[in-house]
Amino acid sequence: MATVEVSRVTKFFGSTQVLKDVTVSIDDGEFVVLVGPSGCGKSTLLRLIAGLENITAGTISIGGRVVNTVPPKDRDIAMVFQNYALYPHMTVFENMAFSLKLAGAPKQVMEEEVARAAKILGLGQLLHRYPRQLSGGQRQRVAMGRAIVRNPQVFLFDEPLSNLDAKLRVAMRAEIKELHQRLKVTTIYVTHDQIEAMTMADKIVVMNHGVVEQIGPPLELYDRPANLFVAGFIGSPA
Ligand code: ADP
Ligand code: MG
Repeated sequence: MATVEVSRVTKFFGSTQVLKDVTVSIDDGEFVVLVGPSGCGKSTLLRLIAGLENITAGTISIGGRVVNTVPPKDRDIAMVFQNYALYPHMTVFENMAFSLKLAGAPKQVMEEEVARAAKILGLGQLLHRYPRQLSGGQRQRVAMGRAIVRNPQVFLFDEPLSNLDAKLRVAMRAEIKELHQRLKVTTIYVTHDQIEAMTMADKIVVMNHGVVEQIGPPLELYDRPANLFVAGFIGSPA
C-alpha cells in the first residue's frame, strides 16, 4: 500500500481560492477522514489527489512519488463516489469489469478479479443483475467492487453513504471498516458527518473554508480541539 503526502497545496478556480496551503500526511494503510461543512473544499482535495483537477501550487506524492503531472489512471488509486456512478445498461459483472476491460485485461483476469471482489462484498449471486434491480446498499457495494478489482494502493471515498437511509448508512460504515481491515489499503474518506468521522477514522482532518483546522485521532480532537470551530463541529449533533 502507499503513503499519501499533501504538501502546501493551494487550489484556485479562476480567481476563487478553494484550498489554502493544505498539508496532510497519510501513513501506509491508514484510514483518514476529511470532514468539514459543505463547500469547505473536501471534494476538491480528493479530486486533486485523484488527479481529476490540476494543482495550482504545492505537491502531492503517492507512495513517495510526486504525482502532480501524473494522469489519474497511472496514480494507483481508485475512487468511490456518492452517486455510485454505475452504468445503467451494464450488469453488475460488466460494471465491475469495465475498468479492467479498458486497461486491456484478458477475460480470465477480469473474471478472477470480479469474482474475488464479489466474494469480499457478498455480491456473488447478483453479477447478472442490472443496477436498477439492486437495493441502495447493493449498488454501493458494486461501486466499491469497481474500486477493489483494480487492486489500488489508495482508496478515495467521496461521501459514499450520503444517499442511503440512516439505518443502512450505519451498517455500511461497518462494512467499509471491515473492508479496510481486510485489505489494509490506505483510505481517504470524505464526509460532512462528524459522527461518521468519529466512528470510522484512524485520523481526522478537519477542514473549514479551504484550510485545515486540525489533524488528529478522533479522541484527541474531541478532548483537545485546537479552536472553537473544531470544538463546535466535532461536538455538535449530526
Ligand atoms: P465540499 O466537497 O467540501 O463540499 P468542494 O470541494 O466541492 O467542497 O467545493 C469547494 C468550493 O469550490 C465551493 O465553493 C465550490 O463551489 C467550489 N468549486 C468546486 N468545484 C469547482 C469548479 N469546478 N469550478 C469552480 N468552483 C468550484
Ligand atoms: Mg463534496
